[in-house]
Amino acid sequence: MRATCYLVGAGPGDPSLVTARGLDLIRRADVIVYDYLVSDRLLDQAPAGAELVYAGKKGFDRHVSQDQINALLIGKVRELETRTGEAVKSTAEKTATAAAAVVDGDGPVLVRLKGGDPYVFGRGGEEALALRAAGIPFEVVPGVTAGIAAPAYAGIPVTHRKMASSVTLVTGHEDPTRTESSLDWPALAALVARGDTVCFYMGVHALPRLVQRLQEEGASPQTPVALVRWGTTPNQQTLVSTLDSVSQDVARAGFLAPAVIVVGRTIGLRDHLSWYERLPLFGRTVVVTRSHTQANGLVGRLRDLGADVREVPAIAFEEPDSHADLDAGIERLGTYDWLVFTSANGVQRFFDRLRTTFGKDARALAGVLVAAIGPGTARALLGQGISADLVPDDYRAEGMFAAMRDYATCHVEQGLAGARVLIPRAQEARETLPQLLREAGAQVDLAAAYRTVIPEGGDVEDLRAALAAGRVDAITFTSSSTARNFCRMVGPDAAALMEGVAACSIGPITSQTLRELDIEPAVEAARYTVGGLVSAIRDHYQT
Ligand code: SAH
Repeated sequence: MRATCYLVGAGPGDPSLVTARGLDLIRRADVIVYDYLVSDRLLDQAPAGAELVYAGKKGFDRHVSQDQINALLIGKVRELETRTGEAVKSTAEKTATAAAAVVDGDGPVLVRLKGGDPYVFGRGGEEALALRAAGIPFEVVPGVTAGIAAPAYAGIPVTHRKMASSVTLVTGHEDPTRTESSLDWPALAALVARGDTVCFYMGVHALPRLVQRLQEEGASPQTPVALVRWGTTPNQQTLVSTLDSVSQDVARAGFLAPAVIVVGRTIGLRDHLSWYERLPLFGRTVVVTRSHTQANGLVGRLRDLGADVREVPAIAFEEPDSHADLDAGIERLGTYDWLVFTSANGVQRFFDRLRTTFGKDARALAGVLVAAIGPGTARALLGQGISADLVPDDYRAEGMFAAMRDYATCHVEQGLAGARVLIPRAQEARETLPQLLREAGAQVDLAAAYRTVIPEGGDVEDLRAALAAGRVDAITFTSSSTARNFCRMVGPDAAALMEGVAACSIGPITSQTLRELDIEPAVEAARYTVGGLVSAIRDHYQT
């Protein structure tokens, strides 16, 4: 089958700024050839078997030449075609059909992933020409370019009806083999003099020369200049100055590439329009200890508030030692009055078992009251087609018991006495709920649906180094097990390393566990949910 090469713009830094089409192709890619500045989080979206090839050219350290990259792309396409049985034609034959090279909708996919937009100073044009010359079908997926996005995240609109009628994208890194500048400095200076916007890419090294040339051609020394470094990422830094002092300011601040240099009147709007750097968690590094499968909501919400989020899962889920209790429970499902879920994971495991081992679905729960400990668990139930009969206001064992007791007293005379309850849950769960229920006269069956373990292969040394260097502001703990596992993972000096780091707890039970581990929580959620935890962290840093 014919392979297609897609020149995809990865966007300026924030991986969520990739286009929908770009992401779709990354998720279907057989091979991804990517550049420096492309986010790992985008590469994480590639299918499990995809081959990832780094072809970066960082700054002036040109360890890979453009010719080598072109050859690599062509070579990878040929490899994919051979793998999928495309008859190997001679190069001449392929070149002859170059003009007719059409995309084969089903063929293998090579994604050439480039920072920002592939055709804006990305050498995408050169790669496309090389592909065309080799008769390889290609498509271009434009991306959000840094010269526009980084200023936008810094509060600088590159045009404004009354202030700047044009924006010019310029390379600050000219071909060193040329003696004459390829830039039209008088024209650039004239634009700048009108207040229009000029964005220089790759210009940090050449900054003194850029500002000198603009001034020589008549731009005012007072013209505003801004540099935006690592734009659209949690490491974004903005420096605002004027043409005559920016070189000094940049040197003094030790401000390095990659940065976009913006010259123009709209920079003045930053005082009113800065938003990203003002997000409540901007500049804060937050470690999330949830499992990968569960962390999504939490991680996304923290990132929305500007945090630099590191995922260090301290918990993973595995099959329980035995399914005997769960299977027995499922077999007798119809005889229970209550089915109580204490985690979303428990819901998932219970229904997986119901389906795979018993060939049954949600209908098997008919006639049984279903309780969920909190909104996350209730959502997981909805995903299985079950609307929970009961969700307590207090998302703890104590709250669940009180809600069940109240519900039962309203509906049946004897309350919970004699009620039959099945609780599928973690093998090592707390005994509080079954105990309370039994004291109230209920007959409780516990069924291990999963086991929590400490995940293997996490980069603990990296985390320890970050903690020791004070590079972590906060760590979230969404359960007692994550707190315990985290301390076991980090080592016996975990509490000491946590000195000065805000431990953020989802609720009082987790806080209690943290205290037992010698860690005093700095933040405790008032609502014991992921949303409640995020609000509490935001409030902690906003005050
Ligand atoms: N094709 C890319 C540009 C590649 S040239 C695009 O469309 O954005 C590389 C230059 O882009 C860097 O030297 C820097 O000037 C700029 N750049 C890329 N990412 C950036 C970011 N996150 N913040 C600021 N500048 C960035």
